[in-house]
Amino acid sequence: MMPRLLAFILVVLALNGCAGGPVIAPTAPMGVPLPDLCQRYHVSWQWDPIAQEVMMEYKGNKSMAMVGSSTVIVGQKQIVLSAPLTRVNSTIYVPEDFEAKVLAPYGVPLMGLPMVESSSWVHTVVLDPGHGGKDTGTRSWSRDVDEKTIVLDVGRRLKRLLEDAGIRVIMTRDTDDFISLQERTIMAAKSGADLFISIHANFSRDRAVSGLIVYYLDDITWRELDEEQRRENERTYLESLKAENSPVLRNIVTDMMDTVKDTRTKVLVRAIIREAREAGIRVRGNGMRLCHFFVVRNTLIPAVLVETGFLSNRGDKNKLTSPLYRQKLARVIARGVLDYANE
Ligand SMILES: [Zn+2]
Repeated sequence: MMPRLLAFILVVLALNGCAGGPVIAPTAPMGVPLPDLCQRYHVSWQWDPIAQEVMMEYKGNKSMAMVGSSTVIVGQKQIVLSAPLTRVNSTIYVPEDFEAKVLAPYGVPLMGLPMVESSSWVHTVVLDPGHGGKDTGTRSWSRDVDEKTIVLDVGRRLKRLLEDAGIRVIMTRDTDDFISLQERTIMAAKSGADLFISIHANFSRDRAVSGLIVYYLDDITWRELDEEQRRENERTYLESLKAENSPVLRNIVTDMMDTVKDTRTKVLVRAIIREAREAGIRVRGNGMRLCHFFVVRNTLIPAVLVETGFLSNRGDKNKLTSPLYRQKLARVIARGVLDYANE
């Protein structure tokens, strides 16, 4: 009997990490911190440590949830969430569907975005989440988060927001697959889109470096204009306009597009940075950087590359791994696009 009991105690100790073994960090995201969500929606809440219950109230509407349970009582109704509530380091986390299932029926304003105006010349946007598949992109300082995963999630969130605002969205990737840079620009040329937004996360050897940066191309060089991929994309685009056989029309269209790209891109860059600052997102310096990145220079339309933050920085990495923060980033970029589109 005794050896069995001893073995049991040793197993319990090992599981608790008391035996000196490594404490395994949860790999799956635990959801959204409830206090952040409640603050954003002006929902007051109270934690009852004895009953392990959270009481929430918004304009007299009451709801109750229990840590460890996925059922929430809203008024007289029972709502079942995709996962139970958890409590880690005295913070309560709720699953991602909490916002839509619990807060929306409350009648809490979901802070909608404006619709794109019918007169706007932005109808279609190409979203380009960087990397994917074998190309993981950069890694967090703690080596547990890949850029490709973060940026795909931001891209998907941004897609939903833009579509809700009436914009057609084309994703260069919506799965964890490798897509070459060439293919990404070809997709943009074929789609007849008006804007190209590439989404990335940054890395610096200096771990203190943090903040969002929007990269863009200011003045395209003659050499860049003559780049093979760009020429091919021009042909693809002109074919879609049925203008490939008219040299005059071809020159007019390509000249016009170069001018639009040069002059309009900066408007979008400024709009995104302004929205980021207003939302309290940390921006690095003035937030704008010139670049000659492949996808930016080989797309014919205004194009930006948003570096959402530095995975090499502890603070940025913690933010980027929060679904709430990624939603905030998506909202900021969407607002920037809509400011630009409705200008
Ligand atoms: Zn990247």
